[in-house]
Amino acid sequence: MQERIKILGVEIDNITSDEAGEITKQLIETSNKSCSLVVAPNVEFIMAAQKDEEFFNILKTSKLATPDSVGVIIGGKLQKKPFKERIPGQTYFRKVFEVGEKEGWTFYLLGGSGDIPRRAKEHLESIYLKAKIVGYHEGYFKEDSEEKVIEEINNLQPNVLFVAMGAPRQEKWIYENKDKLKVDIAAGQGGTFDYEAGNIKRAPVWMQKCGIEWLWRLIREPKRIKRMAVLPLYLLTILFTKDITKGKFDK
Ligand code: UDP
Repeated sequence: MQERIKILGVEIDNITSDEAGEITKQLIETSNKSCSLVVAPNVEFIMAAQKDEEFFNILKTSKLATPDSVGVIIGGKLQKKPFKERIPGQTYFRKVFEVGEKEGWTFYLLGGSGDIPRRAKEHLESIYLKAKIVGYHEGYFKEDSEEKVIEEINNLQPNVLFVAMGAPRQEKWIYENKDKLKVDIAAGQGGTFDYEAGNIKRAPVWMQKCGIEWLWRLIREPKRIKRMAVLPLYLLTILFTKDITKGKFDK
């Protein structure tokens, strides 16, 4: 089992992206359609989990939790447990396609508005020529059509279900439907389909390397300021809290 580092009660795996690909492979090989949850905690996740006990508990059920943001990396450093690597959501997503193309896995994309998942599928198929994306569906649907979406997924029984409906909606959706979904793993992917569809451009590589991708997103989508306002509070909390590993809802 991989080492898990706790930040305010949220458990995150200390792994490289190659190891994340390897663990995903093991999960798929042993899951037997049990819908293992994969999450990508960032600062917004950690802070939301201090207010939302349901989200906090759902994150605890994850079989793989990749370190998504610079704030998470800082949280590891403060504990003198440095994370081996930061794994942005899209990096994990692409890694799963890279491994899955070789292994013959099937994929389903759920999330994004309008034709975003279709365009993401087409773009991915132009990169991963042998990838089997067996279906897709947009992420805005009413509760009464939810059963239909699940039925479609279950008819296809993909190995990997990527759910890109933003956090915590996507994690809650997966958790609520876990016992119905016939998939090996289900991973929350935030805005990744938007990137893959070319709807949103990722930060230049130098910004990604400096860990300031968040600044790029903020400049391009100023309305994110409200969401990002948790960052200073997070830093203050982890700097001054007595035990950085403990979360508000830890028993
Ligand atoms: N979304 C969705 N259904 C919803 C709410 C959101 O499919 O009910 C999609 C939205 O279109 C966008 C993604 O979820 O593609 C959320 O992206 P966001 O940038 O919030 O995620 P982040 O990368 O910040 O986690």
